[in-house]
Amino acid sequence: MTFQNSIEFARGLDAQDSLSKYRDEFHFPQVAGKDVIYFTGNSLGLQPKRTRKYIDEVMTDWQQLGVEGHFHAEKPWWDYHERLAEPLANIVGASPEEICVMNTLTVNLHFLMVSFYRPTKKRFKIICEEKAFPSDQYMLHSQVKFHGLDPDEVLVEVKKREGENIWHTEDVLEKINEVGDELALVLIGGVNYYNGQVFDMKSITNAGKAVGANVGWDLAHAAGNIELKLNEWNVDFASWCSYKYMNSGPGNASGIFVNKKHLSDKNIPRFEGWWGTNKKTRFLMKPEFEPTESADSWQVSNPPILSLAPYLASLEMFSEIGMPALIEKRNKITGYLEFILQEIAKEVNGSFEIITPNDRGCQLSVFLHGHDKTLFNYLMENGVIPDWREPNVIRLAPVPLYCSYEDMYRFGQILKAGILAEK
Ligand SMILES: *Cc1c(COP(=O)(O)O)cnc(C)c1O
Repeated sequence: MTFQNSIEFARGLDAQDSLSKYRDEFHFPQVAGKDVIYFTGNSLGLQPKRTRKYIDEVMTDWQQLGVEGHFHAEKPWWDYHERLAEPLANIVGASPEEICVMNTLTVNLHFLMVSFYRPTKKRFKIICEEKAFPSDQYMLHSQVKFHGLDPDEVLVEVKKREGENIWHTEDVLEKINEVGDELALVLIGGVNYYNGQVFDMKSITNAGKAVGANVGWDLAHAAGNIELKLNEWNVDFASWCSYKYMNSGPGNASGIFVNKKHLSDKNIPRFEGWWGTNKKTRFLMKPEFEPTESADSWQVSNPPILSLAPYLASLEMFSEIGMPALIEKRNKITGYLEFILQEIAKEVNGSFEIITPNDRGCQLSVFLHGHDKTLFNYLMENGVIPDWREPNVIRLAPVPLYCSYEDMYRFGQILKAGILAEK
């Protein structure tokens, strides 16, 4: 499609957009009495208006039923989490029994490492991407040290090539084959948080499995953003947070995926608690743990219902729309933003470059040349919320659920004015 950098053209795209009505389902922060242009749905998704109703329902049940809410609430609490499994399974490409919502993302990665990183004398290395999200780095380092090993000997980082901003799939595959039978685990962020690159999860998982390693993915920037087929790709485990593209509120509950093939393994090491044992016998308070043959076996505590409620509200919206429609708009609106950026770059003669490759989801990372955080501040003051990453990168996520094509056009005009003001 050929785009145009004009308000009429942008409004025309909005008029044809079957998802445009969902914009009204969200609360937008205001600057000078107007909705902001919100680009940080990759960091904290906006609040769906229907979320409050779901939380209120739990508050009312608790108010009126007390402990009886566990079994007699509108949506009983004891198995409330199960309602999230199917919609999430559709989003990540899994069966409901492979999914559990619990804890938070880094916590879940730690729990999953207990099961899927079991170093031996021969097989102990972990492949990850260079400059992984800091929490993942801390998690990996501390796990390695927990096993009494040295992170410098265990962690093998796949690097970007000299002078480039992206990873090459062949470099990841080569590293996997090079480490070979010393490789215990591959754990990478499926969509890189910094440059927005989508890793070829299918090929990388294949290569990891072929040398006998476990393969896990951190899907913080992938869930609700890109197409995932975790089961089909033979991924061992994955986890994601719910507050980025999944719009479930700050710090809210995380989801895990554990491949079916591991669910009947009675000997898999795991940190266990009462919410992981068979629910049919849970309240008999027996001393033995009975795994459930579902990812629920990894659930340690009774889940925080007030966190699950907003997650369920959000998932309902994803189920209504479906990932294919969301991805179709994502491609188009991200393409439109890219076009707008290129047009503005011509008009102001350079000043920035997009470092996100074509294997991307919703995010474009823009590296500024000759500008610094004052340009970012200018955007913020003029009703745009982007995000800033050191040293010089602005990340823009035109989330298809609630961003409009007109937003993209207006952003271009504000960006241009900001750059010209500094020249
Ligand atoms: C956002 C993000 C996290 C955040 O972890 P929490 O435990 O939810 O605070 C972790 N890893 C990656 C790759 C992320 O993008």
